[in-house]
Amino acid sequence: AKSEGRGTYRFFEARMGVEVRERRLLEHDLRHAVARGEMHLVYQPQTDVGSGAVIGFEALLRWKHPERGFVSPALFIPIAEESDAILQIGEWVLREACREAASWTQPLSIAVNVSAVQIHSPHFVGLVHEVLLRTGLAPQRLEVEVTETALISDPNRALLTLRQLKSLGLRIAMDDFGTGYSSLSNLRSFPFDKIKIDGSFVRSVDSNEQTAAIVRSVLGLGRGLGLPVLAEGVETEAELAFLATEQCHAAQGYLMGRPSPIAQFARHTHGTIPL
Ligand code: C2E
Ligand code: CA
Ligand code: CA
Ligand code: CA
Repeated sequence: AKSEGRGTYRFFEARMGVEVRERRLLEHDLRHAVARGEMHLVYQPQTDVGSGAVIGFEALLRWKHPERGFVSPALFIPIAEESDAILQIGEWVLREACREAASWTQPLSIAVNVSAVQIHSPHFVGLVHEVLLRTGLAPQRLEVEVTETALISDPNRALLTLRQLKSLGLRIAMDDFGTGYSSLSNLRSFPFDKIKIDGSFVRSVDSNEQTAAIVRSVLGLGRGLGLPVLAEGVETEAELAFLATEQCHAAQGYLMGRPSPIAQFARHTHGTIPL
């Protein structure tokens, strides 16, 4: 048993070594990924539940590594956040998404994910202001998506930043609602304009009574606070039907459209949405 334990330990230690090395390699490659043209954005439609009309898109980042192929943002975003590479990458995302949206013929909204490191950067508000001016995007069309975990490390500073962002005319959405530590008090403390219910609650909403009750109560909360609610991760007609019955405002998910290159939605490619 003793040798077995030691073997397990050695195996674990070796694995840790690999993981640390892997992270360092990715971290290094991430610093050059934007300059090397390895990053691109895909766009996922957000629809009005009542009418089915597309009301906007969320920009989602994709990294095509020259040797590894596509690396999931769930893997590389946390590494980029730890190494501050997220500041440069996040700036690129913001510019690219706003530039793209400014070219559309319809004034649809564009949602951009922003990480904690960006929110706490002293240059962030100035950057957003500059990007809006430079791209000519109407500020009301930009929606910044933040998770509550991005705010709680320094809530006073985060609150100031969100207020300054809102004074530019854009909107703030609370992403992944329900998955954080204290969604309710954060909803009261920060000036959100929208709630995005996490996909983990939306899935099985039509088959699981507890989940249904939770989603209903979030929708009631939104109504009480005067905040529109968007349900993420909608995959089935049954889930969408539930959301329609419960008067959820907006929805996003594979059912309405997978994150795709914008050309897929554009008029000139005979896409489904005239942009
Ligand atoms: P998120 O902001 O919560 O984005 C939603 C995720 O759910 C996306 O994963 C999207 O592709 C996926 N999704 C959409 N519809 C469905 C569905 O019907 N079913 C399922 N199972 N999944 C669905 P993705 O693109 O892999 O992004 C993962 C996370 O990475 C995002 O979660 C966000 O936290 C982060 N991320 C992505 N792009 C950026 C970015 O530009 N900046 C920052 N800071 N984070 C980003
Ligand atoms: Ca998001
Ligand atoms: Ca989310
Ligand atoms: Ca998420």
